[in-house]
Amino acid sequence: MIACLDLEGVLLPEIWIKFAEKTGVEELKLTTRDIPDYDELMNKRLSILKQNDFKLSDIKDVISTLEPLEGAIEFHQWLRSEFQVIILSDTFYQFVSPLMKKLDYPTLFCHQLVIDNNDSISGYKLRQAKGKQEAVKALQSLNFKVVAAGDSYNDIGMLKQADMGILFDPPKNVIDDYPQFPVSNSYEDFKNKLRDCKSSLEI
Ligand SMILES: [Mg+2]
Repeated sequence: MIACLDLEGVLLPEIWIKFAEKTGVEELKLTTRDIPDYDELMNKRLSILKQNDFKLSDIKDVISTLEPLEGAIEFHQWLRSEFQVIILSDTFYQFVSPLMKKLDYPTLFCHQLVIDNNDSISGYKLRQAKGKQEAVKALQSLNFKVVAAGDSYNDIGMLKQADMGILFDPPKNVIDDYPQFPVSNSYEDFKNKLRDCKSSLEI
C-alpha cells in the first residue's frame, strides 16, 4: 500500500504565497486553490516574475527561510512508519530541493523549471501532463493500493484515481466543489482517517 501526498499546503507552506508576502506583489498570492488550470496559473506567475525582473535566486532566498508546517515533520515520520510514501507535487525540484533535508529526503515526483543564462525563469517543463493522477495509475498497475491526500484543485485527479482520497485543510471552494472526499483539518484527524483507509484497503 502506498500513500501519495501533496507537498505545499500539506507539509510545507505555499511557496508562492510566501514569496508574494516577501515582495509585496499581491498577484503572486494566487495558487492552485484559486486558479484550477495549472498552465494558466504558471504562465501568469512567469509573466509577473518577468515584469518585476525576479530571478530564481530571489525565490530561493525566500524558500531558504521556510520551515515545514507545524507538526509536519512528526506527521510525515509517522506516515512513513505506516505506509510507503511518495510525494506528488506540482512544485519544481529547483525550488524545494533545499527543503527536502528538513523532511528527511522523501521520494519526490515534481517538475523542472527552465532557467536561462541570467538566472531568470524562462519556462517550466511538466514531467508529464496530469502527473499526479498518472503516477497513481502507474502504481496501481503494479498492484499497489493507493491512498492519496492533498489540499487543492490540482490534487483532485489523483484523489479520484486513488483507491481512497482525503482532502487535508482545503479551502471552502474545493470542499464545495468536491463534497465526495473526507476532509481533515489537523494532523491528528488526518492520521485517524489514514488509519481507517489502511484497514479498509487491507481487507
Ligand atoms: Mg497543495
